[in-house]
Amino acid sequence: MGKQEDFVLRALEERDVRFVRLWFTDVLGYLKSVAIAPAELEGAFSEGIGFDGSAIEGFARVTEADMLASPDPSTFQILPWRGDGPATARMFCDITMPDGSASYADPRYVLKRTLQSAADKGFTFYTHPEIEFYLFKGALEPGRPPVPVDQSGYFDHTATSAGSDFRREAITMLEAMGISVEFSHHEGGPGQQEIDLRYADALSTADNIMTFRTVVREVALSQGVWASFMPKPFTEHPGSGMHTHVSLFEGDRNAFFEGGAEYQLSKTGRHFIAGILHHAAEITAVTNQWVNSYKRLIGGGEAPSYISWGHNNRSAMVRVPMYKPNKGQSTRIELRTIDAACNPYLAFAVVLAAGMKGLEGEYELPRESEDDVWSLTDRERQALGLEQLPKSLYDAIGIAERSELLAETLGEHVFDFFLRNKRQEWEEYRGQVSAFERDRMLPVI
Ligand code: GLN
Ligand code: MG
Ligand code: MG
Ligand code: MG
Repeated sequence: MGKQEDFVLRALEERDVRFVRLWFTDVLGYLKSVAIAPAELEGAFSEGIGFDGSAIEGFARVTEADMLASPDPSTFQILPWRGDGPATARMFCDITMPDGSASYADPRYVLKRTLQSAADKGFTFYTHPEIEFYLFKGALEPGRPPVPVDQSGYFDHTATSAGSDFRREAITMLEAMGISVEFSHHEGGPGQQEIDLRYADALSTADNIMTFRTVVREVALSQGVWASFMPKPFTEHPGSGMHTHVSLFEGDRNAFFEGGAEYQLSKTGRHFIAGILHHAAEITAVTNQWVNSYKRLIGGGEAPSYISWGHNNRSAMVRVPMYKPNKGQSTRIELRTIDAACNPYLAFAVVLAAGMKGLEGEYELPRESEDDVWSLTDRERQALGLEQLPKSLYDAIGIAERSELLAETLGEHVFDFFLRNKRQEWEEYRGQVSAFERDRMLPVI
């Protein structure tokens, strides 16, 4: 038993923990949880806890169903929303096969493997997500549009509002779980909120996003509202994205920083952006994985729809944020495509893999786009060589299927399952008759 395991076992007694929840994530990004009694934990550390993998989305075929969840003691935290009294704690798990090898279906492992291959080249990958979501009144009614909790807009400050009370409570809980929050504010849509997590290594951030989604839902329930990360809940209001700032470090040094270079951006940083742009269309199925995700990427609403990069340009897909002089360590790039309904482990893995390809292949960075790319005509965009992001899940799957980068990064099993599942989602969607069609057609034809 290592030091960290000892620490957890001691904490169980000191904090009077009665339930330990073991958390892991399925291929589609849903959190899974099994609660064990504290007495079982020592065994869980040494041998893992067995479960039927075939019952979990994307995990296994029926014939290879036995899997083990091994808790990662460095992720031990008490769940603050369970109140004082006897406590409930959680740990994220790594999933292993009965022979002890890592499960090829575990998204956390997909990310770990990709981080390792960057580490082999001397790099650590850091991410900082800006998470947007809507808050709705009360319970949802099937078939009825949800009602936002307020009518405020971007950065609005109102003396007492559902949104600010909500953010204060959610942030207090996140901080209690060791997750630092950097900014929070009202976003552009009615009832829309944003909370930004402090940057950390990508594995911690991905774990933190899974925790974040749970905390936000719990706090919403406790306040009688409903929180959703759906990428585009309303036709007429902006969608919810998860802009992610990324950087590579070599030891203590930010590898994207070069004093005196344009935007203080090093060659490494330029190649990394070039990699993301070059592979953007291939990885979109993972960073924007739902039918609904593509309704956000429609042009406008500050969400990207063209494969472009820019400096102070919010229509660009990749933005190099304004730098502060002498703040080299904070040099980073902002990827604006990702939405908060993604599987963060898989999304970070494919973004890193795309960037690393650019670095290894020394891809040339295309010209930056200074224009508002949404307001250009098709012909102007063509002249600038600006390509469009996939317009639908269907387009995205078609491109993803032919992507070597994706197959390599996700591994054969996750790649196959993911595409099969997404094709099925598209087929189900394709057959739906919508209110849009009825409202347009019934009155006239
Ligand atoms: N909500 C916008 C999106 O979907 C982003 C708005 C912003 O943060 N400037 O990406
Ligand atoms: Mg923001
Ligand atoms: Mg925002
Ligand atoms: Mg942003």
